[in-house]
Amino acid sequence: MTILPIVTLPDPILRKVSEPVERVDEELRRLMDDMLETMYAAPGVGLAAVQVGVPRRLIVLDVSKDEQQAEPLFMANPEIVALGPETRLHEEGCLSIPEVLVEIERPASVTVSYLDRFGESRELTAEGLLATAVQHEINHLDGKLIIDFLSPLKRDMVVRKFKKQARSTEAL
Ligand SMILES: [Zn+2]
Repeated sequence: MTILPIVTLPDPILRKVSEPVERVDEELRRLMDDMLETMYAAPGVGLAAVQVGVPRRLIVLDVSKDEQQAEPLFMANPEIVALGPETRLHEEGCLSIPEVLVEIERPASVTVSYLDRFGESRELTAEGLLATAVQHEINHLDGKLIIDFLSPLKRDMVVRKFKKQARSTEAL
């Protein structure tokens, strides 16, 4: 397995709407495995394919705390089919926007349909951190980022900071 480079702000690919996966084959499984490895190494609890520069509707997740009992989830073409009535507040980070945390209120439970690592159709109802993570990653597939939950003024400040950082890196 390979650890892939993670795309960060202000790379415009993060704003792309990802294309559906046509079928889950060996090549896609390899990408899923590399994404999981990349996510664990970061470390993070979720990663969308677009964050490694592949704009396809594919996410990996693992919110388990214990390394010995990993609970990886692979979701191709995830779609939200129901949202619970309660909400949950969580300070979210994003591997593509290092060192930025945004407090976001989202539905506390979510039912999602998807194709698993073997291309089987599945449905899962997630709660707690997993519900938050699933919604965060599906946002990525639609080009939506946690900074979009900030006021325009604060969002501009974050984007400016990352643009400046990108410029100084290029200058080296
Ligand atoms: Zn993210």
